[in-house]
Amino acid sequence: MIQRDGKYGLLNLQLNTLPSQLVQIFHDWSVKNSKKAIDLRDDVTLVFLGLDEDGLDEQYLFNDNSLSGSFIYPTSYKLKEYPPFKYNKFQGTPYYAVDVTHSQELQTYLSSFEDVKIVNNMMSILTVSKNESSLFAYSKMYMDWLMRNKFCPGCGQQVIPVDAGTRLLCQTPKEECPVKSSAVSNVCFPRTDPVIIVGAVSSDGKKILLGNNQRHPAGPNGKRMFSCIAGFMEPGETIEESTLREIWEETGCSAREVKIAASQPWPFPANLMIGCFGIVHFDGVNEIINTELDNELADCRWFDADDIKTLLNGGELEDISLPMEGSIAYELIKSLALGKY
Ligand SMILES: [Zn+2]
Repeated sequence: MIQRDGKYGLLNLQLNTLPSQLVQIFHDWSVKNSKKAIDLRDDVTLVFLGLDEDGLDEQYLFNDNSLSGSFIYPTSYKLKEYPPFKYNKFQGTPYYAVDVTHSQELQTYLSSFEDVKIVNNMMSILTVSKNESSLFAYSKMYMDWLMRNKFCPGCGQQVIPVDAGTRLLCQTPKEECPVKSSAVSNVCFPRTDPVIIVGAVSSDGKKILLGNNQRHPAGPNGKRMFSCIAGFMEPGETIEESTLREIWEETGCSAREVKIAASQPWPFPANLMIGCFGIVHFDGVNEIINTELDNELADCRWFDADDIKTLLNGGELEDISLPMEGSIAYELIKSLALGKY
Protein backbone atom coordinates (compact mmCIF):
# COMPACT_ATOMS: atom_id res chain seq x y z
CA MET A 1 0.00 0.00 0.00
CA ILE A 2 1.19 3.50 -0.85
CA GLN A 3 0.39 6.54 1.29
CA ARG A 4 0.94 10.16 0.35
CA ASP A 5 -0.50 13.14 2.21
CA GLY A 6 -3.27 11.01 3.67
CA LYS A 7 -4.27 9.48 0.31
CA TYR A 8 -3.94 5.74 -0.16
CA GLY A 9 -3.51 3.22 -2.95
CA LEU A 10 -2.70 -0.46 -3.33
CA LEU A 11 -0.08 -1.47 -5.84
CA ASN A 12 1.61 -4.68 -6.94
CA LEU A 13 5.22 -4.15 -8.02
CA GLN A 14 7.92 -6.37 -9.33
CA LEU A 15 10.95 -5.34 -7.33
CA ASN A 16 13.47 -6.07 -10.07
CA THR A 17 11.75 -3.62 -12.42
CA LEU A 18 12.16 -0.67 -10.05
CA PRO A 19 14.68 2.01 -11.15
CA SER A 20 17.96 1.58 -9.27
CA GLN A 21 17.70 4.89 -7.38
CA LEU A 22 14.40 3.71 -5.92
CA VAL A 23 15.86 0.37 -4.90
CA GLN A 24 18.52 2.46 -3.14
CA ILE A 25 15.79 4.24 -1.12
CA PHE A 26 14.48 0.90 0.16
CA HIS A 27 18.01 -0.34 0.81
CA ASP A 28 18.83 2.79 2.85
CA TRP A 29 15.65 2.32 4.86
CA SER A 30 16.58 -1.29 5.54
CA VAL A 31 20.03 -0.30 6.86
CA LYS A 32 18.57 2.47 9.05
CA ASN A 33 15.90 0.09 10.31
CA SER A 34 18.46 -2.44 11.47
CA LYS A 35 20.44 0.33 13.23
CA LYS A 36 17.31 1.88 14.82
CA ALA A 37 18.45 5.22 13.36
CA ILE A 38 16.70 8.34 14.63
CA ASP A 39 16.25 9.66 11.05
CA LEU A 40 14.63 6.40 9.92
CA ARG A 41 11.49 8.02 8.56
CA ASP A 42 12.95 11.20 7.09
CA ASP A 43 12.64 9.90 3.51
CA VAL A 44 10.15 7.04 3.38
CA THR A 45 8.26 5.26 6.10
CA LEU A 46 7.93 1.55 5.51
CA VAL A 47 5.97 -1.03 7.40
CA PHE A 48 6.52 -4.69 6.68
CA LEU A 49 3.05 -6.19 6.80
CA GLY A 50 3.95 -9.83 6.40
CA LEU A 51 4.50 -12.66 3.95
CA ASP A 52 1.81 -14.30 1.90
CA GLU A 53 3.07 -17.88 2.08
CA ASP A 54 0.44 -19.17 -0.33
CA GLY A 55 1.37 -16.56 -2.91
CA LEU A 56 -1.21 -14.57 -4.77
CA ASP A 57 -3.71 -16.28 -6.96
CA GLU A 58 -2.92 -15.98 -10.63
CA GLN A 59 -6.03 -14.08 -11.56
CA TYR A 60 -5.10 -11.39 -9.08
CA LEU A 61 -1.56 -11.28 -10.39
CA PHE A 62 -2.15 -11.17 -14.09
CA ASN A 63 -5.58 -9.76 -14.80
CA ASP A 64 -5.60 -5.99 -14.52
CA ASN A 65 -9.37 -5.97 -14.88
CA SER A 66 -9.95 -8.25 -11.92
CA LEU A 67 -9.81 -5.34 -9.51
CA SER A 68 -12.25 -2.54 -9.09
CA GLY A 69 -12.54 0.35 -6.71
CA SER A 70 -11.05 3.78 -6.80
CA PHE A 71 -8.07 3.24 -4.54
CA ILE A 72 -6.85 0.05 -6.16
CA TYR A 73 -4.58 0.15 -9.16
CA PRO A 74 -2.81 -2.99 -10.26
CA THR A 75 0.16 -3.39 -12.52
CA SER A 76 1.39 -6.65 -13.93
CA TYR A 77 3.44 -8.70 -11.51
CA LYS A 78 5.26 -11.82 -12.59
CA LEU A 79 5.94 -13.76 -9.44
CA LYS A 80 7.54 -16.68 -11.26
CA GLU A 81 10.35 -14.47 -12.60
CA TYR A 82 11.34 -13.30 -9.17
CA PRO A 83 12.41 -15.58 -6.31
CA PRO A 84 10.17 -15.51 -3.23
CA PHE A 85 11.20 -13.48 -0.22
CA LYS A 86 12.71 -15.66 2.53
CA TYR A 87 12.90 -15.19 6.27
CA ASN A 88 14.02 -18.12 8.47
CA LYS A 89 11.90 -21.05 7.32
CA PHE A 90 9.20 -18.77 5.89
CA GLN A 91 8.93 -17.71 2.27
CA GLY A 92 6.36 -15.98 0.13
CA THR A 93 5.31 -12.66 -1.31
CA PRO A 94 6.20 -9.72 0.98
CA TYR A 95 3.71 -6.93 1.59
CA TYR A 96 4.63 -3.41 2.66
CA ALA A 97 2.91 -0.17 3.48
CA VAL A 98 4.97 2.78 2.22
CA ASP A 99 4.57 6.46 3.04
CA VAL A 100 5.99 8.44 0.12
CA THR A 101 4.98 11.89 1.41
CA HIS A 102 8.63 12.96 1.83
CA SER A 103 10.12 11.17 -1.18
CA GLN A 104 9.92 13.22 -4.36
CA GLU A 105 11.60 10.38 -6.35
CA LEU A 106 8.98 7.84 -5.37
CA GLN A 107 6.17 10.28 -6.04
CA THR A 108 7.56 10.99 -9.51
CA TYR A 109 7.90 7.27 -10.16
CA LEU A 110 4.31 6.60 -9.08
CA SER A 111 3.00 9.40 -11.25
CA SER A 112 4.42 7.52 -14.26
CA PHE A 113 1.58 5.01 -13.93
CA GLU A 114 -1.15 6.31 -16.18
CA ASP A 115 -3.94 4.46 -14.44
CA VAL A 116 -2.96 5.62 -10.96
CA LYS A 117 -5.84 7.04 -9.03
CA ILE A 118 -5.17 7.49 -5.35
CA VAL A 119 -8.15 8.52 -3.33
CA ASN A 120 -9.21 8.02 0.22
CA ASN A 121 -12.82 7.06 0.17
CA MET A 122 -14.59 5.35 3.05
CA MET A 123 -17.07 3.61 0.78
CA SER A 124 -14.45 2.30 -1.65
CA ILE A 125 -13.34 -0.24 0.96
CA LEU A 126 -16.72 -1.93 0.51
CA THR A 127 -16.38 -2.22 -3.26
CA VAL A 128 -13.25 -4.40 -3.37
CA SER A 129 -12.61 -8.02 -2.48
CA LYS A 130 -12.30 -9.21 1.09
CA ASN A 131 -8.53 -9.77 0.77
CA GLU A 132 -7.98 -6.31 -0.69
CA SER A 133 -10.05 -4.51 1.91
CA SER A 134 -8.33 -6.51 4.64
CA LEU A 135 -4.92 -5.52 3.31
CA PHE A 136 -6.02 -1.90 3.03
CA ALA A 137 -7.36 -1.82 6.60
CA TYR A 138 -4.21 -3.43 7.97
CA SER A 139 -1.93 -1.00 6.12
CA LYS A 140 -3.91 2.12 6.80
CA MET A 141 -4.16 1.48 10.53
CA TYR A 142 -0.38 1.18 10.79
CA MET A 143 0.23 4.25 8.63
CA ASP A 144 -2.24 6.37 10.49
CA TRP A 145 -0.77 5.29 13.82
CA LEU A 146 2.76 6.15 12.69
CA MET A 147 1.62 9.52 11.35
CA ARG A 148 0.05 10.45 14.69
CA ASN A 149 2.86 9.17 16.94
CA LYS A 150 6.20 10.85 16.43
CA PHE A 151 7.20 11.60 20.03
CA CYS A 152 7.27 9.59 23.25
CA PRO A 153 4.18 10.32 25.39
CA GLY A 154 6.32 9.97 28.52
CA CYS A 155 9.43 12.10 27.90
CA GLY A 156 8.81 13.87 24.56
CA GLN A 157 11.80 12.22 22.83
CA GLN A 158 11.44 11.40 19.12
CA VAL A 159 10.35 7.76 18.71
CA ILE A 160 11.63 5.31 16.10
CA PRO A 161 9.39 2.77 14.34
CA VAL A 162 11.53 -0.36 14.83
CA ASP A 163 10.82 -4.02 14.02
CA ALA A 164 9.97 -3.00 10.44
CA GLY A 165 7.54 -0.34 11.57
CA THR A 166 5.28 -2.13 14.02
CA ARG A 167 6.78 -0.98 17.34
CA LEU A 168 7.73 2.49 18.54
CA LEU A 169 10.98 2.81 20.45
CA CYS A 170 11.99 5.63 22.79
CA GLN A 171 15.75 5.68 23.31
CA THR A 172 15.67 7.62 26.59
CA PRO A 173 16.97 5.42 29.45
CA LYS A 174 14.07 3.81 31.29
CA GLU A 175 14.94 5.58 34.57
CA GLU A 176 14.22 8.91 32.83
CA CYS A 177 11.16 7.96 30.78
CA PRO A 178 7.98 7.37 32.81
CA VAL A 179 6.25 5.17 30.21
CA LYS A 180 9.11 2.66 29.95
CA SER A 181 9.67 -0.21 32.35
CA SER A 182 11.77 -3.34 32.46
CA ALA A 183 8.72 -5.25 31.21
CA VAL A 184 7.59 -2.88 28.45
CA SER A 185 10.03 -1.09 26.16
CA ASN A 186 7.41 -0.29 23.53
CA VAL A 187 6.03 3.15 24.32
CA CYS A 188 2.98 2.80 22.15
CA PHE A 189 1.25 -0.08 20.37
CA PRO A 190 -0.81 0.48 17.22
CA ARG A 191 -4.31 1.56 18.16
CA THR A 192 -7.49 -0.37 17.70
CA ASP A 193 -10.50 1.54 19.00
CA PRO A 194 -13.48 -0.71 19.74
CA VAL A 195 -16.83 0.58 18.54
CA ILE A 196 -20.14 -1.06 19.36
CA ILE A 197 -22.64 -1.26 16.52
CA VAL A 198 -25.98 -2.70 17.48
CA GLY A 199 -29.14 -3.77 15.75
CA ALA A 200 -31.88 -3.57 18.38
CA VAL A 201 -34.98 -5.71 18.02
CA SER A 202 -38.16 -6.43 19.96
CA SER A 203 -38.16 -9.76 21.78
CA ASP A 204 -40.79 -11.13 19.36
CA GLY A 205 -38.60 -10.14 16.39
CA LYS A 206 -41.34 -8.08 14.74
CA LYS A 207 -39.91 -4.59 15.32
CA ILE A 208 -36.43 -3.28 14.47
CA LEU A 209 -35.01 -0.08 15.98
CA LEU A 210 -33.10 2.13 13.53
CA GLY A 211 -31.93 5.72 13.74
CA ASN A 212 -31.08 8.54 11.33
CA ASN A 213 -27.89 10.21 12.53
CA GLN A 214 -27.68 14.03 12.64
CA ARG A 215 -24.58 13.69 10.41
CA HIS A 216 -26.60 11.94 7.68
CA PRO A 217 -29.25 14.35 6.41
CA ALA A 218 -31.19 13.52 3.24
CA GLY A 219 -28.92 12.89 0.22
CA PRO A 220 -29.41 14.15 -3.37
CA ASN A 221 -32.11 11.50 -3.89
CA GLY A 222 -34.06 12.93 -0.97
CA LYS A 223 -33.59 9.77 1.10
CA ARG A 224 -32.42 9.65 4.69
CA MET A 225 -30.33 6.67 5.82
CA PHE A 226 -31.58 4.80 8.87
CA SER A 227 -29.00 2.54 10.45
CA CYS A 228 -27.88 0.73 13.58
CA ILE A 229 -26.92 2.46 16.81
CA ALA A 230 -23.15 2.86 17.20
CA GLY A 231 -20.64 4.38 19.58
CA PHE A 232 -17.18 3.99 21.09
CA MET A 233 -16.70 1.66 24.03
CA GLU A 234 -15.66 3.35 27.25
CA PRO A 235 -12.71 2.20 29.41
CA GLY A 236 -13.61 -0.66 31.74
CA GLU A 237 -16.81 -1.62 29.92
CA THR A 238 -17.68 -5.09 28.70
CA ILE A 239 -19.05 -5.34 25.16
CA GLU A 240 -22.45 -6.18 26.63
CA GLU A 241 -22.50 -3.17 28.97
CA SER A 242 -21.38 -0.89 26.19
CA THR A 243 -24.14 -2.16 23.91
CA LEU A 244 -26.89 -1.62 26.50
CA ARG A 245 -25.54 1.88 27.29
CA GLU A 246 -25.34 2.94 23.64
CA ILE A 247 -28.92 1.84 22.92
CA TRP A 248 -30.15 3.79 25.95
CA GLU A 249 -28.02 6.90 25.32
CA GLU A 250 -29.03 7.32 21.70
CA THR A 251 -32.61 6.05 21.67
CA GLY A 252 -33.83 6.07 25.29
CA CYS A 253 -34.85 2.40 24.91
CA SER A 254 -33.81 -0.24 27.46
CA ALA A 255 -32.51 -3.52 26.10
CA ARG A 256 -31.98 -6.51 28.36
CA GLU A 257 -30.12 -9.14 26.33
CA VAL A 258 -27.09 -8.76 24.09
CA LYS A 259 -25.79 -11.19 21.49
CA ILE A 260 -22.41 -10.62 19.87
CA ALA A 261 -22.69 -11.24 16.14
CA ALA A 262 -19.55 -10.34 14.16
CA SER A 263 -16.85 -7.72 13.81
CA GLN A 264 -15.35 -5.62 11.04
CA PRO A 265 -12.14 -3.54 11.00
CA TRP A 266 -12.94 0.01 9.91
CA PRO A 267 -9.68 1.91 9.32
CA PHE A 268 -11.04 5.47 9.60
CA PRO A 269 -8.81 5.83 11.44
CA ALA A 270 -8.46 2.71 13.64
CA ASN A 271 -11.84 1.29 14.60
CA LEU A 272 -12.95 -2.26 15.18
CA MET A 273 -16.71 -2.41 14.71
CA ILE A 274 -18.20 -5.01 17.07
CA GLY A 275 -21.59 -5.98 15.75
CA CYS A 276 -24.23 -6.96 18.32
CA PHE A 277 -27.94 -7.58 18.63
CA GLY A 278 -29.82 -5.95 21.49
CA ILE A 279 -33.13 -7.48 22.56
CA VAL A 280 -35.75 -5.09 23.92
CA HIS A 281 -38.62 -6.60 25.92
CA PHE A 282 -41.63 -4.39 25.22
CA ASP A 283 -43.52 -3.58 28.42
CA GLY A 284 -44.92 -0.12 27.69
CA VAL A 285 -41.75 1.56 28.99
CA ASN A 286 -38.61 -0.19 27.65
CA GLU A 287 -39.51 0.62 24.05
CA ILE A 288 -40.23 4.34 24.48
CA ILE A 289 -37.94 6.36 22.20
CA ASN A 290 -36.19 9.47 23.50
CA THR A 291 -33.40 10.87 21.29
CA GLU A 292 -32.77 13.91 23.47
CA LEU A 293 -30.40 12.20 25.90
CA ASP A 294 -27.38 12.81 23.65
CA ASN A 295 -29.06 14.28 20.55
CA GLU A 296 -26.94 12.18 18.21
CA LEU A 297 -29.95 11.01 16.20
CA ALA A 298 -32.17 13.29 14.13
CA ASP A 299 -34.84 10.61 14.03
CA CYS A 300 -35.37 7.13 15.46
CA ARG A 301 -38.17 4.65 14.87
CA TRP A 302 -39.32 1.10 15.49
CA PHE A 303 -39.82 -0.33 11.98
CA ASP A 304 -41.86 -3.41 11.09
CA ALA A 305 -39.43 -6.19 10.21
CA ASP A 306 -41.53 -6.82 7.08
CA ASP A 307 -41.01 -3.23 5.90
CA ILE A 308 -37.24 -3.60 6.35
CA LYS A 309 -37.39 -6.81 4.36
CA THR A 310 -39.14 -4.88 1.57
CA LEU A 311 -36.35 -2.28 1.59
CA LEU A 312 -33.67 -4.98 1.52
CA ASN A 313 -35.39 -6.51 -1.51
CA GLY A 314 -35.18 -3.23 -3.41
CA GLY A 315 -38.63 -1.92 -2.50
CA GLU A 316 -39.48 1.60 -1.38
CA LEU A 317 -40.43 2.84 2.06
CA GLU A 318 -41.18 6.55 2.40
CA ASP A 319 -37.91 8.54 2.06
CA ILE A 320 -35.80 5.92 3.80
CA SER A 321 -32.59 4.17 2.73
CA LEU A 322 -30.41 1.56 4.45
CA PRO A 323 -26.61 1.39 4.88
CA MET A 324 -24.44 0.20 2.00
CA GLU A 325 -24.37 -3.52 1.30
CA GLY A 326 -21.20 -5.08 2.73
CA SER A 327 -21.13 -2.82 5.77
CA ILE A 328 -21.60 -4.51 9.12
CA ALA A 329 -24.66 -2.31 9.74
CA TYR A 330 -26.31 -3.71 6.60
CA GLU A 331 -25.51 -7.27 7.63
CA LEU A 332 -26.94 -6.78 11.13
CA ILE A 333 -30.16 -5.27 9.78
CA LYS A 334 -30.48 -8.08 7.24
CA SER A 335 -30.03 -10.73 9.95
CA LEU A 336 -32.70 -9.10 12.09
CA ALA A 337 -35.16 -8.80 9.19
CA LEU A 338 -34.66 -12.47 8.32
CA GLY A 339 -34.90 -13.55 11.97
CA LYS A 340 -31.35 -14.91 11.89
CA TYR A 341 -29.86 -13.78 15.17
ZN1 LIG B 1 10.31 8.23 26.46
